[in-house]
Amino acid sequence: MNSLPVTRDLFDAFMVPNYAPAAIMPVRGEGSRLWDQDGREFLDFAGGIAVTGLGHAHPKLVTALTEQAQKLWHVSNVLTNEPALKLARQLCELTFAERVFFANSGAEANEAALKLARKYSADHFAPDKREIIAFTPSFHGRTLFTVTVGGQPKYTEGFEPLPPGITHVPFNDLAAFTAAISDRTCAVILEPVLGESGVISATPEFLQGVRELCGRRQALLIFDEVQCGNGRSGQLYAYMAYGVIPDILTTAKGLGGGFPISAMLTTTSIAASLNVGTHGTTYGGNPLGCAVANAALAIFSDPDVLAGVRRKHELFMAGLSRINQRFNIFRDVRGMGLLLGCELIDAWRGRSRDFIKAALDEGLLILVAGPDVIRLAPSLIIPDDLIEAGLNRFEQAIARLLSTAA
Ligand SMILES: *Cc1c(COP(=O)(O)O)cnc(C)c1O
Repeated sequence: MNSLPVTRDLFDAFMVPNYAPAAIMPVRGEGSRLWDQDGREFLDFAGGIAVTGLGHAHPKLVTALTEQAQKLWHVSNVLTNEPALKLARQLCELTFAERVFFANSGAEANEAALKLARKYSADHFAPDKREIIAFTPSFHGRTLFTVTVGGQPKYTEGFEPLPPGITHVPFNDLAAFTAAISDRTCAVILEPVLGESGVISATPEFLQGVRELCGRRQALLIFDEVQCGNGRSGQLYAYMAYGVIPDILTTAKGLGGGFPISAMLTTTSIAASLNVGTHGTTYGGNPLGCAVANAALAIFSDPDVLAGVRRKHELFMAGLSRINQRFNIFRDVRGMGLLLGCELIDAWRGRSRDFIKAALDEGLLILVAGPDVIRLAPSLIIPDDLIEAGLNRFEQAIARLLSTAA
């Protein structure tokens, strides 16, 4: 059995059909390049959906993983371990946080944050203060709680009954938020930069206004930096670019550079509500994930690496604007750091997926952020010449798509 060839067909034969993966299957990666089963090379502007922030098989991450793999993989949370404590201390030293909880995915970190906010409210306030305010569009994960907080009907339909006590308000609309928040609000959750939902940055006035109103109403402010965190914005965490400090911050994706790990960061006084026995997860804070994240954090928190992200942002913006001068296909090119969005003109609305396919044919991996926006989330340390080469392939892909569509 094990010597039979492994082909893409096996996906349709044996996997639950909740994904529709491309026809090619990567088998190896190095930096910002991947190779498929046939040895064909692809440039990676997708980063495994904003996860492999240091590219594929980064030598320092490989060393951290393999060294830890020979020592200790798992001990459960009945015991603690050195990599987890080292990572927690480092995250606290580098951010507003004083306490850390580790989990394995973005949804789990958000689930922990939302549960903590409810529990904190239960510990300190009247029983009617349990409402959570979130924004549309947004994305917070696929557990029943987080998918309901995300508020996108296409992701909740059929999964009812949904958890109650969640209100939705349009993103970047401070007036609507002001009208919605009340003394019944226990927490507000938002992505400082919308990742899945179109690559839209919060306006500074919006974030400052939300922060101010949360303080006044004694509601906890949760920043979901699962996607925009870990250096992707050009700052270690995007809140630092705004100078607006949350009460709880969640992160995942880039934290382990491709190894599954997530974290919820908060203050000592808020953390106190997750006392012994109130919450947990088997693999959270396991030595392997934490060892890799320690190595990744040392790189993506380096001021030179972060300055590099901001400089590479300019390279991408210049290249994308050059492409747009030729084709007039984008109505907007935007983003922070190396999370970039190209919004298609009206004539191409709803067709962002066609560009993924066209780029794949040219040997380039890109992403969408909804039906109208092409998203790029390359490695934070992608070499400049590969940015140029990838943008050339992107340009070729667009040229071909436009000529076949004409
Ligand atoms: C990807 C993402 C999540 C969910 O993370 P998972 O690891 O898939 O559970 C949550 N929030 C944001 C902003 C994300 O981009």
